Amino acid sequence: MKKFSLLLLAALLAVSLIGCAPDAPQQYRTEFLGTFDTVVSVIGYADTEEEFSQAAGIVHETFAGLHQLFDIYHGYSGVNNIKTINDNAGLMPVKVDARIIELLQTAKEWHSKTDGAVNVAMGPVLAVWHEYRGTGIASPEDAAVPGAQELAEAAKLTNIGKIAIDEAASTVYIEAGMRIDVGAIAKGYATQAAADALIAAGYDSVLISAGGNVAAVGAPKDGRDKWGVGVKDPQSDLAYSTDDENLLDVAYVSGVSVVSSGSYERYYEVDGVRYHHLIDPQTLFPAAHCIGVTVIAQDSTAADVLSTAAFVLPPEEAMLLIENTEGTEALWVHENGDVTLSSGMAAYLKHIGGATNGA
Ligand code: ADP
Ligand code: MG
Repeated sequence: MKKFSLLLLAALLAVSLIGCAPDAPQQYRTEFLGTFDTVVSVIGYADTEEEFSQAAGIVHETFAGLHQLFDIYHGYSGVNNIKTINDNAGLMPVKVDARIIELLQTAKEWHSKTDGAVNVAMGPVLAVWHEYRGTGIASPEDAAVPGAQELAEAAKLTNIGKIAIDEAASTVYIEAGMRIDVGAIAKGYATQAAADALIAAGYDSVLISAGGNVAAVGAPKDGRDKWGVGVKDPQSDLAYSTDDENLLDVAYVSGVSVVSSGSYERYYEVDGVRYHHLIDPQTLFPAAHCIGVTVIAQDSTAADVLSTAAFVLPPEEAMLLIENTEGTEALWVHENGDVTLSSGMAAYLKHIGGATNGA
């Protein structure tokens, strides 16, 4: 008899849980293209599809606006953007939106914090690589490596101190031949801006993923207390592989950003040698200390810059930078498959560190 009532109770509980389910927040997901040369996905828990669509709309609007401002290749009518500043190098200061001023000031701060490893004034050098990469991808038989002379010539015009920002007038001026490239920071800035806009609008359960830049707002509302963010394996055929064949591990996070940079992203080949897009300001050539880096930091702009810095700097300096930057952790993957972790990184990782997500 007692056993029977316990069974009955269990059955009633099960029914009431199912009965609750329609009111529980549901997971929604959407993607959009057309900004920052990448796919942006938005995943979130909301009570209604409408509520989620509004959140996704905030993310899309933020990315679309900042894409125009930070574009270095295209102009938009009525908008003074980074290209406008570059087009007016040596001619005149350009009046720009306060977000461009903020982005460039932040970039200057990170230039000194990273000991020059991340330099948004490296545009002339990056443009040389961009052009050779374009040719190398379009017609592999014509693929070539830029000459040291050509790169050294371009490097003469990369003094970030000469980006003249007049905050009061909201203008930026660069000298003739200079060229700003915000590729190492712009996507992180946009991701953080979108996360901030969501939080300001009261959203607390959204994951934004913009081509290697992920910001986790709050936690999933399905019993888990963390989002699982895949850490890409730079060589998918590495022996160490987890849930997904392309994943090195899974980072469990909430309220932080996870950003990866790697030599797998934009590259071309000459005589079997890969030339990727992360350029060491010391050598003016693609950095070769590792093949992939993943950085976790509170702020997405910081995480983005640090992922490039941690990739470009020699291993000891890269580790020191991460260890000395509060609240940041990193994981490096080396060419032979070895993985290096900063002191607190394992605590985020499901496989390497045994981290859990409360499920
Ligand atoms: P992705 O844009 O592929 O996500 P990153 O965030 O690591 O990758 O940024 C790489 C971009 O930053 C390059 O495409 C280039 O425009 C720029 N860049 C490359 N090396 C440097 C550097 N040392 N300093 C500043 N910008 C760089
Ligand atoms: Mg970066």
